[in-house]
Amino acid sequence: MLGKEFLFFNRENIDLPDDFKELQLQCESCKRCSLFKTRRNVVFGKGNKNAILMLVGEAPGEKEDIKGEPFVGAAGELLTKMLKAINLTRDDVYIANVLKCRPPQNRDPTPEEIEACKGYLFKQIEIINPKIILALGRHAIKFLTDYSGPLSAIRGNVFYYKGIKVIPTYHPAALIYHQEWKRGSWEDLKLARRLYDEALKPQMNTD
Ligand code: URA
Repeated sequence: MLGKEFLFFNRENIDLPDDFKELQLQCESCKRCSLFKTRRNVVFGKGNKNAILMLVGEAPGEKEDIKGEPFVGAAGELLTKMLKAINLTRDDVYIANVLKCRPPQNRDPTPEEIEACKGYLFKQIEIINPKIILALGRHAIKFLTDYSGPLSAIRGNVFYYKGIKVIPTYHPAALIYHQEWKRGSWEDLKLARRLYDEALKPQMNTD
């Protein structure tokens, strides 16, 4: 398989609980950056805590901020359809974002906000320990692979974050406006499904 291994140093978690519920509680009262002043709800994440596949987006939008759940707006509807296309539901996967609070007017997350928030996602990944992560859009891709160039240059490659396979792909919000990216998105989804099926297979005993 095509692959690029990235090694991460100095990206260990700041002091955060190993218990998922505790982590969520701590996150929900977070004041590590100024977004706590404008948020309505913290959007910690939602889904199956034993998921094989985790999806990582950018940050909550208005609907997510109101509801306190990730991907519940138009992009979320498309995301649900994308999962359905590979025979998965939202209950099969865990969905989280790089940022847990909505940036005002849906502006891009700042490096300071990402830095302040990063421990929560690192810890979520550590506890859930998925086999595959679908990185949705440039912020999730940068966060998990350190790559910040054009997606077109790396699409189709599998990256690794601490031994977990990372598939970089388009953000569903971008797909709404760029129909021409749907073919590539479908290829990425099929790759995710193939790796998912491989992860489901019992390990062969080679002794
Ligand atoms: N876009 C994201 O990246 N995350 C959400 O939860 C909603 C929209």
